[in-house]
Amino acid sequence: MILLRTRKKTEGAFSMASSPTLLMRVVASAYSVAEKAARIVRNVMATGDLGIVEKCGANDLQTKADRLVQMSICASLARKFPKVTIIGEEELPPHDVSEELIEDGHCEEILKKTCPPQYAGIKEEELVVWVDPLDGTKEYTEGLLDHVTVLIGIAYGGKAIAGVINQPYYNYEAGADAVLGRTIWGVLGIGAFGFELTEAPAGKHIIVTTRSHSSTLVNDCISALNPDSVIRVGGAGNKIIQLIEGKASAYVFASPGCKKWDTCAPEAILHAVGGKITDIHGNSFHYNKEVKHMNSAGVLAALRNYDYYASCIPNTVKQSLVP
Ligand code: AMP
Ligand code: MG
Ligand code: MG
Repeated sequence: MILLRTRKKTEGAFSMASSPTLLMRVVASAYSVAEKAARIVRNVMATGDLGIVEKCGANDLQTKADRLVQMSICASLARKFPKVTIIGEEELPPHDVSEELIEDGHCEEILKKTCPPQYAGIKEEELVVWVDPLDGTKEYTEGLLDHVTVLIGIAYGGKAIAGVINQPYYNYEAGADAVLGRTIWGVLGIGAFGFELTEAPAGKHIIVTTRSHSSTLVNDCISALNPDSVIRVGGAGNKIIQLIEGKASAYVFASPGCKKWDTCAPEAILHAVGGKITDIHGNSFHYNKEVKHMNSAGVLAALRNYDYYASCIPNTVKQSLVP
């Protein structure tokens, strides 16, 4: 009898210590869900029929990949975590999601990490997941495939605390033998993984900005920063990757247009490695479920020297962008 009781206690203690928290289970599932999403993005492109629909004009597109991936991500996460609020970019009519779009797996490596204690008690109803099924749609339709990312951002208390960025066509120009695609993930207090953190060249101001949503204001703001060079690429996810891999020193977008699903996952990953992202005034973004979707006052982000770039934004630009 006594032996049995002792063993039971030990087992109980062991399983309590090793049982992953809700947050880590959501991140681990989001990782696999994003990998499935990437396969869908590649499959749709391979069929050659993108099914392009204009949402608000020729620079605001939706493809069959945006639609299928959103269904896949939202239905897969909702099935496992029914009380989590999930907000996706695409407005889709109510429908049954086909079983072949459902991903049930998770990343074991993520479950092995220790959840930061401040997030250990989070309940499902306290999480908001922001989904951009395909960020950089315009570039996807134009064959600029490495600009494309799948974004799953996880917010708690209005703050982006974890995120997954999948880049379905990472390495696509590296030849047939290269492994195509990668998944980057991060949690505040743990760090970010799936890439090599690299700082941009010291003393150089390399600005990364929009390729397809430029305006006079966007360009005036960049000029005010006296950049050494300007990289114009699609996607908010892609631009944050440029920052964390040292290709660019700041992401500057003095325009409305970017939404909460564009910034949530990138913000969590950038903040997890010590960077900073705000609107052009320096205000933090909030990701509670009631928040306005549009980031009306633009985007300013950097891995290092954020304060320097913030100090260069002209007042005239700030006055043109109301939060
Ligand atoms: P970009 O840097 O132009 O690729 O934009 C980053 C994200 O914000 C993408 O998801 C874009 O679709 C979105 N975005 C930025 N500006 C606009 C705009 N004027 N209209 C629609 N979406 C925009
Ligand atoms: Mg987007
Ligand atoms: Mg999108």
